[in-house]
Amino acid sequence: MGIVEVCDTEDELASVMAHEMNHVAARHATEMLTTQNLSQLAIIAAISVVPIPIPPIAWEGAKLGYVLSLLRYSRGKEAEADRLGLRLMNAAGYDPAAMASVFRKLSEQQHSLPSVVERFLSSHPLSEVRMRDAERRAAQLDRPATAAVAAASPSTFPQVKMMFAKD
Ligand SMILES: [Zn+2]
Repeated sequence: MGIVEVCDTEDELASVMAHEMNHVAARHATEMLTTQNLSQLAIIAAISVVPIPIPPIAWEGAKLGYVLSLLRYSRGKEAEADRLGLRLMNAAGYDPAAMASVFRKLSEQQHSLPSVVERFLSSHPLSEVRMRDAERRAAQLDRPATAAVAAASPSTFPQVKMMFAKD
């Protein structure tokens, strides 16, 4: 099971994406790669000479995904990505309260759904403090009256979720 399946609304999926986008925007990954992940980079460089019949761009994406999955962000970086993510999704018209709700769902699924959820949690530990913090910050944000998402046509999230559903 993947993140999309854990999310019940587009707002929840937007929370996870907003969080991840802000790790990138705040350069958390590049910061860590330049300071402490050099040995892992060496491993990746070694792996990349193995000939695998997939398009180069997919291979680059897979390598990047692998690098990102190795990163363990500090609590400070997690908090920063949450904080910036909440502001970003709120500005776009998503409900910022969805961040705490999806964190709770991921946290509850921790034992029943290993694989993807576990990998997300191992790099993004979800403490009670963090979930409460996301709730508190979301409640403090001024909701924009006219935001792109709020003004858009009905969400296509249910169809997207169907596409990811496995039987
Ligand atoms: Zn994170």
